[in-house]
Amino acid sequence: MVLLAIESSCDESSAAVLIDGKLRSNVVATQLVHQQYGGVVPELASRAHQQHIVPVVEEALNRAKVTKKDLNVVAFTRGPGLLGSLLVGTSFAKSLALGLDIPLVDVHHMQAHVLAHFLEDPHPSFPFLCLTVSGGHTQIVLVRDYLDMEVIGETQDDAVGEAFDKTAKLLQLPYPGGPLIDKYAQEGNPDRFPLPAVDTPGLTYSFSGIKTAILYFLRDQTAKDPDFIQKNLADICASVQGTLVKILLTKLKRAARETGIRDIAIAGGVSANSGLRAELLRTGEKLGWNVFIPKFEYCTDNAAMIAAAGYYKALKGDFCPQTVSPLPRMEW
Ligand code: ATP
Ligand code: MG
Ligand code: FE
Repeated sequence: MVLLAIESSCDESSAAVLIDGKLRSNVVATQLVHQQYGGVVPELASRAHQQHIVPVVEEALNRAKVTKKDLNVVAFTRGPGLLGSLLVGTSFAKSLALGLDIPLVDVHHMQAHVLAHFLEDPHPSFPFLCLTVSGGHTQIVLVRDYLDMEVIGETQDDAVGEAFDKTAKLLQLPYPGGPLIDKYAQEGNPDRFPLPAVDTPGLTYSFSGIKTAILYFLRDQTAKDPDFIQKNLADICASVQGTLVKILLTKLKRAARETGIRDIAIAGGVSANSGLRAELLRTGEKLGWNVFIPKFEYCTDNAAMIAAAGYYKALKGDFCPQTVSPLPRMEW
């Protein structure tokens, strides 16, 4: 099976080719236009997808050494994501499948983040838990099979990636700030500015409290010293990152205890975070977990993961009709 996958849910235009389950290419064009606005501007995102999609697909085909005529299946991200962005990938995938007269597979973006783990060995065994942490989601997913997943815990307000990015904005760092907080945190002391990591019962996350705490802390400190942020950037970042990671792991440990599952994975953009990776490995060692952490290029948005998800659906003959439309709030 020669499968072309397309991802266009947010601000990465990406295409990948998977041949008989093996990844042959994965091309990602990250839209830099949003940096100057401090966040993704939906209208600009969909226009940038329109500019990128043809060259990105061509490059993915070239790198995999195949032509359009070799393709048997086209997979694409149907949702969740920004409607205008999803429309570009969806329309492109539909037209290509129609023109080539080959089947079409619609993919759930978050399921694909989870299935990125199957692009390489070793991979988790079913059932496993996957903490999906990204710009729009924070979920604990019980994964029973490739396409049988249940969200057993999620955030009631902000996603953790949003908490990273909004804090970065308060620290006057450019968008997306998550990776920069990570970078500065590595030189900082996480204990100098303690922040509250309030735990609540159950598996529901909340990041609004910590966000407000950071806002007030910075407001009070800069009132006393306008250069407070510049002077203490590394320690502030270390403290923010340490606290967010602690909140993530508290619930994940509870989910592992409650389900008795020991294969534990992370996925999504925030799984690139060095603090989260280190703490997960430490916790896993202590509690006897088998920990699975994706390669950096499969953490943030990419079409390789869409290809993986599309492959398992195609194997089952789970295709979608030409009348399919994108779903910005797609259910699991
Ligand atoms: P979703 O997958 O929920 O639809 P998205 O596709 O925008 O959202 P991803 O591309 O999966 O999200 O992840 C982007 C997020 O990951 C951003 O919030 C970014 O700041 C965060 N991120 C990326 N690298 C790091 C890092 N090293 N530390 C912390 N956060 C990071
Ligand atoms: Mg992105
Ligand atoms: Fe994503």
